[in-house]
Amino acid sequence: MKNICILGATGSIGLNTLDVASLHPDKFKIFSISANTNWKLMLKLCEAHNPTYAIMTEPASAEELSKRASSEITVLSGDKALKEVAEHEQTDYVMAAIVGSAGMASVLAAVNSGKRVMLANKESLVLAGSLLINAAKDSGAEIIPVDSEHSAIFQCLQGGVSGLNKIQLTASGGPFLNFSPSDLESVTPEQACKHPNWDMGRKISVDSATMMNKGLEVIEAHFLFSLNPSQIEVVIHPQSIIHSLACFDDGSVISQLGLADMRTAISYALSYPERQNSGVQTLDLTKQKPLEFFPPNLESYPCLRLAYEALREGKSLPGTLNAANEVAVDAFLKGKVDFLGIAKIIENTLAKAPAYELDSVSVIVENDRTSRQIAKSIVESGI
Ligand code: NAD
Ligand code: MG
Repeated sequence: MKNICILGATGSIGLNTLDVASLHPDKFKIFSISANTNWKLMLKLCEAHNPTYAIMTEPASAEELSKRASSEITVLSGDKALKEVAEHEQTDYVMAAIVGSAGMASVLAAVNSGKRVMLANKESLVLAGSLLINAAKDSGAEIIPVDSEHSAIFQCLQGGVSGLNKIQLTASGGPFLNFSPSDLESVTPEQACKHPNWDMGRKISVDSATMMNKGLEVIEAHFLFSLNPSQIEVVIHPQSIIHSLACFDDGSVISQLGLADMRTAISYALSYPERQNSGVQTLDLTKQKPLEFFPPNLESYPCLRLAYEALREGKSLPGTLNAANEVAVDAFLKGKVDFLGIAKIIENTLAKAPAYELDSVSVIVENDRTSRQIAKSIVESGI
């Protein structure tokens, strides 16, 4: 029996993780769950899964939850509690499903204490890639990707990496794939959050529309699979059936296919190296629309270009890219900037932010803070 800690349990990945784990009560116990402010949903999750710990990072929400939750459940609050449950000696597996850089500290705690980290929170690898990968080597932690593309590559490489020459990450192209630049000027947050294939949180949905999501995934893949930027390509595949491809020297290309449902990747991270029922039906290609593939146009997707540039420059620039993106997406969702403003804010922040060597957590945190300040001042100045 494995004790599971789900950080970000009320989100799209968190709820899907609870669904998959619930199919296997003989294998998994929900040991701890966390959320930011949604105590009403957390109360329902507490009633359904009876965790030992429930954390609301916002103290007022923790108070509301503790008034109502069963007295058998210990309700904690604050960021420190996230780290405590992540590194708790009874925790076996940690699902890192908090959105954004807020997820980094708990991922680091889980990695440092040698857990299996099922990594959905790609932002923490973008911020602290080398540090996290080295910490996992030191502690023996397993980092199992949950992002569908990286889970696909991870699955494709189970036979080894001998002769691997590049990977191709597939991208749906998001809801605005066939929009012209002038159509994009007036798109709304609601349109951006309506993804054609995947049902996701609002931040990652906007990231998919700008293709910053794929940019962050290129950086994520660089750290997870030790590949150069030139070995990581992006292919637009609007049907989201092929989840990514690994290309080998002998001409072989190995890919992982499946319906667009995150429970497959979540299930594999839970059961690895075994497989188990995830609740997802097997793909029937005879019932699918034709599969299409196109190269991405970096002019139409400036965020993808900026991510490649930040990765090539290295140092703290991927962290700056991520911080500026979080500020810009938040401003877009709040109606303060338009859709095309997102890439401009990121580009201007990258031009202004100094590049540091990222050799410690404090430098990473400081770079995140200063980059956010620069991005916010750009938003306030009206870009
Ligand atoms: P979501 O917005 O649906 O859920 C986010 C979760 O994080 C919620 O439980 C929320 O309470 C918690 N949270 C938000 N801000 C927090 C904070 N400041 N401190 C602590 N907790 C906080 O997001 P999601 O779509 O489930 O995505 C979660 C992560 O997984 C993201 O990093 C995303 O990029 C990644 N991911 C998601 C998908 C997907 O299909 N949804 C696919 C691949 C990767
Ligand atoms: Mg993905």
